[in-house]
Amino acid sequence: MILMEKMSVRKVRVGSVYLGGDLPVLIQSMTNTKTSDVKATLEQINHLAEVGCEIIRVAVPQEEDLKGFREIVKQAPLPVVADIHFNYLLAIKAVEAGAVKVRINPGNLGGLDKLLEVAKAAKGQAAIRVGVNAGSLPKNYLESINAGHLNLPEAMAYLAKDYVDFLYDHDFFDVVVSLKASDVLTTVSANRKFRTFSEAPLHLGITEAGTAFSGTVKSAVGMGTLLLEGIGETIRVSLTADPNNEIKVAQEILKACGLRRFGPTVISCPTCGRTKIDLYTLAKKVEKMVESIKEDLVIAVMGCAVNGPGEAKNADLGIAGGKGEGLIFVGGEVVEKVRESDLLTRFEFYLQKVLERRREN
Ligand code: SF4
Repeated sequence: MILMEKMSVRKVRVGSVYLGGDLPVLIQSMTNTKTSDVKATLEQINHLAEVGCEIIRVAVPQEEDLKGFREIVKQAPLPVVADIHFNYLLAIKAVEAGAVKVRINPGNLGGLDKLLEVAKAAKGQAAIRVGVNAGSLPKNYLESINAGHLNLPEAMAYLAKDYVDFLYDHDFFDVVVSLKASDVLTTVSANRKFRTFSEAPLHLGITEAGTAFSGTVKSAVGMGTLLLEGIGETIRVSLTADPNNEIKVAQEILKACGLRRFGPTVISCPTCGRTKIDLYTLAKKVEKMVESIKEDLVIAVMGCAVNGPGEAKNADLGIAGGKGEGLIFVGGEVVEKVRESDLLTRFEFYLQKVLERRREN
């Protein structure tokens, strides 16, 4: 459930997908292979697409990467965004090579005239993501912060607005904005502020979020807060980990915010003194069993028969563990008492029945 009504956001095309309007929040990731290694990069993109990535960003660090980039765009199953630093000519060439969006930080392109050149090349071809990073604000904004006229999130938001207004004033409207910082509070405040005065779609992310564990927590808190307020049209979870993890985490965040559905949600209890079954292993096995299912189901794996079925009565089906046995319940009703050794097999049987019924309806 969205806690606040989403304000009107401009719809922007990114290749075969659109951002903004009332459209679903999309999941992005970024390759970490060498762009010149077309085979490895495409393998990674294909895999990310299979697990649910919807837009992919590929770094184009130098001129020599353009050849590979062009090939990647041609063969990739996803819209490909070029990530460009410093060199506006490279951004123009990436558009010519087929990028459907270029991610640039206008502050390090060398002036607004360069931004305008990129916009001219991108017009009708590609969107521009204006990236503003807390760590790279221009001198005049830093001075305003030092003088106490603006705080850091405000400075980021106003700077992004300057760039967006500049592009809009030059008749370029396919603009997406990202306001990133490595700390959650700055990121949240900057995005909130920006949304109060601009309709440009926002790409959310926490930069340098960290390793799988801390990065997941920071991303969930930061993006989850904004998403629940209706802010954010695409998200990228940045983790110092396998990019596939980023997609899983992004999906869980969107699911938890009630914005998207990606197959079953497995809920499990934390266990307590009543637990007499190895619930950690059981929950993991159930999660594995259902990971390829596309249907939207709620599955409960609970540690005891006393409170389990009651606590998970809204689940489509579930297991409540006991001593050497367990209960299987469907739609809140207990359907079978099973020996622990047969629990997973019987659970799978009922799971198939629930799915068959779902598919018939
Ligand atoms: S479901 Fe049972 S075992 Fe799990 S936390 Fe609740 S009371 Fe404890």
